[in-house]
Amino acid sequence: MTYPRVVIDSEKIKSNIKFLVEKGEKQGIQLMGVTKVFSGEKEIAKIFMEGGVKYLADSRLENLKKFEDFDIPKVLIRIPMKSQAKEIVKYADISMNSEISTIEALNKEAKNQEKIHKIILMIELGDLREGILPKDIKAHVDQIMKFENIELEGIAVNLTCYGGVIPSPTNLGELEKIADFIESEYKIQLNIVSGGNSSSIELLLANDLPKKINNLRLGEALVFGRESAYGNDIEGCFTDAVSLEVEIVELKEKDSIPTGEIGMNAFGEKPVFEDLGVRKRAIVAIGRQDVDQDNIRPSDSKISIIGASSDHLILDLSDTSTEYNVGDIVKFSLDYGGLLQLSTSNYVKKHFCSK
Ligand SMILES: *Cc1c(COP(=O)(O)O)cnc(C)c1O
Repeated sequence: MTYPRVVIDSEKIKSNIKFLVEKGEKQGIQLMGVTKVFSGEKEIAKIFMEGGVKYLADSRLENLKKFEDFDIPKVLIRIPMKSQAKEIVKYADISMNSEISTIEALNKEAKNQEKIHKIILMIELGDLREGILPKDIKAHVDQIMKFENIELEGIAVNLTCYGGVIPSPTNLGELEKIADFIESEYKIQLNIVSGGNSSSIELLLANDLPKKINNLRLGEALVFGRESAYGNDIEGCFTDAVSLEVEIVELKEKDSIPTGEIGMNAFGEKPVFEDLGVRKRAIVAIGRQDVDQDNIRPSDSKISIIGASSDHLILDLSDTSTEYNVGDIVKFSLDYGGLLQLSTSNYVKKHFCSK
């Protein structure tokens, strides 16, 4: 076994997915499983598919590439880079867009590759990240209709990402109206009207999503069993499907205040210390280049995190009743940001199990 490792309980994640897929189905809502928090890990994509998501979605093309052999529509959910147009047409069936010149580049590539590339037009409804303004919809769709190798598959909104704006029947009602407008104005049917991410879960569970919404893009809710508008756990889902395990490399009684003149630490910060006397301190083999200490929490609540440098995380084991030795493993729970960082570290292994 190698450490540090992220331990992933496949069955718990699958159970979360099945639970939310079923809730969605009752209201005519299909799910895109967003894999970016696992850096597009293939094993996770398989679990998502077995759980019943209808699309695999990721923000990075490199991740979607790994899913090439999977028989399921793949969606690029970050606004495309023009410079990647060729590969996007090759590896993504659908991309989410907000720039006409980029859609034009995708059209050109699709023509070259003799394909139809589907797009979802992102609409800005208050959160101020990606999307076109509602007043510009007609001008944009007029243009999109002219591109022979582009198909307008749908529209979508993203909320609670930059601005923290919470989805509501009001802003999602706007999305519904826009869908109605496009369908009647252009005599087309939009296959996807995507009403957001894990922050739309409370509306889903309360049956409060406008009728026209038929899609949600979920990452956090599937993996952590948590909605992201208020940070509430989802009743019926597992919140502990992923955890982190690290190994103790040093264990000693030491002072809690450094000796000598205090300058900068390795990250240019001036540290401050509280005198707690002599403490039992452990160094575990993980550091700031793998994860930020604020995104992980020791599973044993009697253990506290003292601090971290690039490759060392220092823990206080003085208060725990568990006997730890050098070579022992310490477990942590983690949040979305923690998993995101750990997934991109080459030094952290992923271990799948079903307890
Ligand atoms: C990351 C992302 C999602 C998924 O968000 P979660 O909060 O993990 O459900 C959905 N849509 C877009 C555009 C994203 O960037």
